[in-house]
Amino acid sequence: MKQHRLQRDPLTLLVLRSRRAVQPTKALPMPITTVGLDADDTLWHNETIFRLTQARFLDLLGEHETAAVEARLAEVERRNLRLYGYGIKGFTLSMIETAMELCDGEAPPSVIREILAAGREMIAHPVETLPGVDEALAELSERYRLVLITKGDLLDQERKLAASGLGDLFAAVEIVSDKDRMTYDRVFDRHGTGPSEAVMAGNSMKSDVLPALAAGAFAVHIPYVVTWAHELADAPAGNDRYEALETISALPNWVRERDEGSAS
Ligand SMILES: [Mg+2]
Repeated sequence: MKQHRLQRDPLTLLVLRSRRAVQPTKALPMPITTVGLDADDTLWHNETIFRLTQARFLDLLGEHETAAVEARLAEVERRNLRLYGYGIKGFTLSMIETAMELCDGEAPPSVIREILAAGREMIAHPVETLPGVDEALAELSERYRLVLITKGDLLDQERKLAASGLGDLFAAVEIVSDKDRMTYDRVFDRHGTGPSEAVMAGNSMKSDVLPALAAGAFAVHIPYVVTWAHELADAPAGNDRYEALETISALPNWVRERDEGSAS
């Protein structure tokens, strides 16, 4: 009787649970219920629009050395990220601040006006989904709960999702201020069956892959043609929950193979 009681002791259960947690994930195959998808540069073009605007900004400040303007803008953006977060509005403010700094506080009104116009044009830019996105998402949505997980300005991301025509395929949309391990824990708990039964797919190693793996999810890196300097990171080594795919068209099969592999 005493023995029986001991086995039910909460502390004993806790020890048993933590022992189980250190076993390699390979030993505990799990079904997949939920697929998280990044938005910018995963579903539609984004960074190329930022690069075009930056080229226009460099032209505006043509009197200054290009490399110096680029370096200053990168520094101002980094400094401002925690104040303004990610997105076009923060980028516009950072361009204005950079122009003011480079012109010793005397940037001509015409330059400020041009920067504001460039920011507005970015916000109005048509949304172009990347090749294979529509088909891949339609296929995935038949079997899995799709969750859009993105940083950026709330209004702008809502606009892009509506314009993309993909909105109906998602069971949930999370526009977050940052993507860390806690974000994926919370989002996959709220909208799925927890990170261990979820896949996160996106173009950023730093924001989409590494923190999702840290939360215990599967993570798939799908690169875009260019990557913003702040999103660069090394690929994880020796993690059997990580995969690199060349295109989103390969994602439905990969998820299905992983998911069905867990049933055997
Ligand atoms: Mg992205």
